[in-house]
Amino acid sequence: MSRSLVELPINDKAHVRHAPLLGMTFSALEHEFSEIGLTRLDAKRVFPWIHMKCASSFDVMTDVPHKIRSVLNERFSLERPKCCNLQKSSDGTQKALLEFADGHQIETVFIPEEKRNTVCLSAQVGCAMECKFCNTGRQQFSRNLTASEIMAQVFFWKDLLLESAEQKSLTNLVFMGMGEPMLNSESLFSALELLLGEKTHNFSRNKVTVSTAGVIEADLLKLAQFGVKLAISLHAPNDAKRSELMPINRKYGIETILNAAKEYLRLSNTEHVTFEYLLLYGVNDSDDDARQLAKLLANIHCKVNLIMFNSWSGSIFTGSSRARADAFLSILLSKGVRTIIRKSRGDDILAACGQLKTLRNQMPNFDSM
Ligand code: SF4
Repeated sequence: MSRSLVELPINDKAHVRHAPLLGMTFSALEHEFSEIGLTRLDAKRVFPWIHMKCASSFDVMTDVPHKIRSVLNERFSLERPKCCNLQKSSDGTQKALLEFADGHQIETVFIPEEKRNTVCLSAQVGCAMECKFCNTGRQQFSRNLTASEIMAQVFFWKDLLLESAEQKSLTNLVFMGMGEPMLNSESLFSALELLLGEKTHNFSRNKVTVSTAGVIEADLLKLAQFGVKLAISLHAPNDAKRSELMPINRKYGIETILNAAKEYLRLSNTEHVTFEYLLLYGVNDSDDDARQLAKLLANIHCKVNLIMFNSWSGSIFTGSSRARADAFLSILLSKGVRTIIRKSRGDDILAACGQLKTLRNQMPNFDSM
């Protein structure tokens, strides 16, 4: 028997927590609704408004009875995060600094291209992984993002694109922003369910990529069930160099990573795993490094993305020259490893991970939107 609609006493209204709905899966929404006497039918009416029509207010849900909309207004929230800064690069890349209700800030980037529009999403506030070359790694880990906060980044760009005259839509998503997604797998998996769902955001599985620094735990195999693409930040051709650059390598070494990559391919039915490799001058960019890397990857269906390093103030590393990158690329290609040099985007707005947040913290008069 369904419970009757729970109305809040007037005095309680000021204290009620507005539960965020942006990251709630249908089953979670149905459960929340049932707790206050709303039905499955109510959930079925509200859910498409949130995800297919991107409603930012309950008042626009015209097929939801007025009395129920009042309850939704009292109990739940569709609130988007505050945008503290939005920068646009000369190449069209946009980077936003978003602030959540508790004051924590994260970055998200929109990268338009001729045939696709990609959004880069953050999974945590700060990062605990301490990769030596990364600006975010210098910022202390604060907390995981909730599924609603991950989804809020997608809603932020969808709202912005809807308002713009250009009529662009999002096609690709990459979890390559702040934080390590595999250390926030519960929120990641809820967000993926919404992002991939046919009746929600309907992103194609092969256009969603989750990137990990190499956190090889059981959840990686759960991720495979979503069938999304996996990218692994490798950045070195042997354990000695990798452990210097990425402390996580002391826990999960290269052999563990490569075995997990093969298992991921088998379970996810994806075509290849991508290995990200940041070219650092004099550190990991020699001909010998390239040969070692080719040998490591010889038996894996993979693609290597070579990345030119975007230097930041205080970094101890310098990027390799273009000539060195080309030589590194040639060696990998000659050994049969599919490799590209990834095109750098948004250099003039410091689009590398962690740079907008750091810059804002250093600049008290940063313009707000
Ligand atoms: S590269 Fe990724 S995992 Fe490493 S510190 Fe930066 S955000 Fe964290």
